[in-house]
Amino acid sequence: MRTLFAKVIIDISSEKVDRTFDYCVPSKLEDQIHVGAQVQVPFGRGNTLRKGYVVALSNQTDYTSSSLKEIFSLEKGSVSAETLLIELAWWMKERYGSTMNQALKTVLPVKQKVKSKESRKILRRISPDSLEAEIDKARQKGYKAQVRLLSALRDHECLEWERATKELGITPSLIRTAEKKGWIYLELKTVYRNPLDGKERGQSQVKLNKDQEAVVRAFAQDYRGGIRKTYLIHGITGSGKTEVYMELISQVLQAGKQVIVLIPEIALTYQTVLRFYSRFGDRISIMNSRLSQGERYDQFQRARKGEVDIMIGPRSALFTPFSNLGLIIIDEEHESAYKSETAPRYHARETAVKRASMQQASVVLGSATPSLEAYTKALRGEYVLFTLKKRAKADSFLPHTEVVDLRKELEEGNKSVFSRLLQKKIEERLAKREQVMLFMNRRGYANFISCRSCGEAMKCPHCDVTLTLHKDHTLKCHYCGFQIPVPDRCPHCGSPYIAHFGAGTQKIQELAEKRFPGARILRMDLDTTAGKNGHEEILAAFGAGQADILIGTQMIVKGHDFPKVTLVGVIAADVSLYAPDFRAGEKTFQLLTQAAGRAGRGGRPGEAIIQTYNPQHYSISCAAGQDYEGFYRMEMAYRKLMGYPPAAVLLTVLLSSGDEMLLDRFAVELTRWLDPIAERRRVQLIGPVQAPVYKINDIYRKILYMKQQNYDILIQIKNQIDGLLEINPELARQILVQYDFS
Ligand code: ADP
Ligand code: ZN
Ligand code: ZN
Repeated sequence: MRTLFAKVIIDISSEKVDRTFDYCVPSKLEDQIHVGAQVQVPFGRGNTLRKGYVVALSNQTDYTSSSLKEIFSLEKGSVSAETLLIELAWWMKERYGSTMNQALKTVLPVKQKVKSKESRKILRRISPDSLEAEIDKARQKGYKAQVRLLSALRDHECLEWERATKELGITPSLIRTAEKKGWIYLELKTVYRNPLDGKERGQSQVKLNKDQEAVVRAFAQDYRGGIRKTYLIHGITGSGKTEVYMELISQVLQAGKQVIVLIPEIALTYQTVLRFYSRFGDRISIMNSRLSQGERYDQFQRARKGEVDIMIGPRSALFTPFSNLGLIIIDEEHESAYKSETAPRYHARETAVKRASMQQASVVLGSATPSLEAYTKALRGEYVLFTLKKRAKADSFLPHTEVVDLRKELEEGNKSVFSRLLQKKIEERLAKREQVMLFMNRRGYANFISCRSCGEAMKCPHCDVTLTLHKDHTLKCHYCGFQIPVPDRCPHCGSPYIAHFGAGTQKIQELAEKRFPGARILRMDLDTTAGKNGHEEILAAFGAGQADILIGTQMIVKGHDFPKVTLVGVIAADVSLYAPDFRAGEKTFQLLTQAAGRAGRGGRPGEAIIQTYNPQHYSISCAAGQDYEGFYRMEMAYRKLMGYPPAAVLLTVLLSSGDEMLLDRFAVELTRWLDPIAERRRVQLIGPVQAPVYKINDIYRKILYMKQQNYDILIQIKNQIDGLLEINPELARQILVQYDFS
């Protein structure tokens, strides 16, 4: 009797990767078959042999086994990128608790029928002189459409395909002729085409300094010796990490291998892209999240065919189908964008390390403010740690930072959001025609209550996270459900000045306009950047000196270099400190460190002023002192004390249903069922509580938390919950259970 069955996908690039077919595994193949294996299977009526991939193995099948066909053969020898990616998907499914379908859809680029006209662009290639000559020629010959096309190109470097064909009445065949004549390029993806000709390449190469050299040397020695590791470069902003990455890439390319570079979307600026192009030219492909599925698919195809060796992009670029991968670089590894918010809720850092180990590749992580997770691993010796402490450019220094105590300002009668020191410094800059950036943390973080006299925020006595203000005028803890009415006086000092931390960027702008009449002020936040290029336009205007002050949220903190900015002011450093999130202190430290790092990048000394109600909080004092190690020690002590990651693993179980009563009952029953298991396995079980946003689209959501140092134990419990649902299909239809490991 046969016992093993395989689920096989036949057409891996089709829209439906979740379309699988069951096959029997012949006994002679049982020992060799594995998830990801490439197989030949008889398919369709004629039983023609088709190539397929195994995505699951099981002792059960939904079909009568006698009706199933047998796998014909197993492809051996060279390992394809698909095999590796399917194996990786399996690992992700197991580790992050998703379905195999969700995992497959994440790792395999899905081909969708792209509307062929979509976003096609016609770009001018012809030089201006020849353009005029061609217009004359076309006129003489009476080629009116050619004249229209060429004149349009005179005024526009870039034409939309739609506009050319519809408004200008230019036929596709003329466009093709124009392309053949070398007048134009046709461009499918709009944002990042190679902006350089061959001749400009290689110009910008710098000579690495000693510290940078040391990193490259150690890496290269390992690499040549066949040793593969994960390296963490802890280097302050401007210490030359990107230059190091580029040197590492060229070493790996010389060894005939391929490279993936992950960059958070927001840092994927034109400047960065240009640096990579000028060094590596056409061997690079660049992805951004604005690409359509079809465009992403095309990029992955190019990678698969070996047309490019370097893929640069955000999180999803990690799944580039390189079969000869040698190195994965993750820049700004601490960024929360590396964690997926949909199932499988994978972290790119861990997944990269896994993928690298499957392909004998190395991983290089870089950050000015490493995540606690990565730094802990580096201290334990799991990662190799490098530190770059100096700015690479001779004329660039870290700014001088001062912390202003807002409680004192209030005490001494200044009720303005601008401290007296900040006001004075801004005026100095305006007089010298230098630029200022004012930074206010993200709006929406502001639904907590704090005391303006003593600086204390209202916190949960059980969880040490901030209580969140609700519309019904209560304060709630989103970790344990603790709840109190909003007090009229500060429970710590009795002051009546307790306030909702309300000021957003727009308000700051109004206040700044009043306080600094005549100053030219720009604002950048979600509202002002709603348009497609709003972002870039505002930054470009500020960079060109069209404003004296730029006010913004975290968007302004990242990526960009403005040489004329000599002062950075943080309006209220506390706001992000009190997000109801155990990582709030870490995020605050990162933001402040980055914000301060914006000042003084162009040879002029910079200053940063951090205003706060909590000058003594280590996230703030350590950021002001550029003291990462000090911050790490304090924050790690807190995580250990509270059992938060990375001191333990936190599994969030999200239960959701349209039926509130049923959800309620299930949450309670599940908790009761889990209680003895948790006790036996030494898991701390918390909840059920309402999710931070309890109801979305009429779906109610509740949360259970589990903490335990051993990841495997939590995975086993997760599997037990899945098992429970499997035997209760009725329940499983009405209640969605999702997992999030952090
Ligand atoms: P990071 O990625 O750490 O922020 P970058 O690699 O972007 O740092 O370097 C910051 C600036 O210093 C860039 O303008 C870069 O060209 C320059 N730079 C980096 N390394 C050197 C070096 N060895 N000599 C001179 N300039 C350098
Ligand atoms: Zn108080
Ligand atoms: Zn609590």
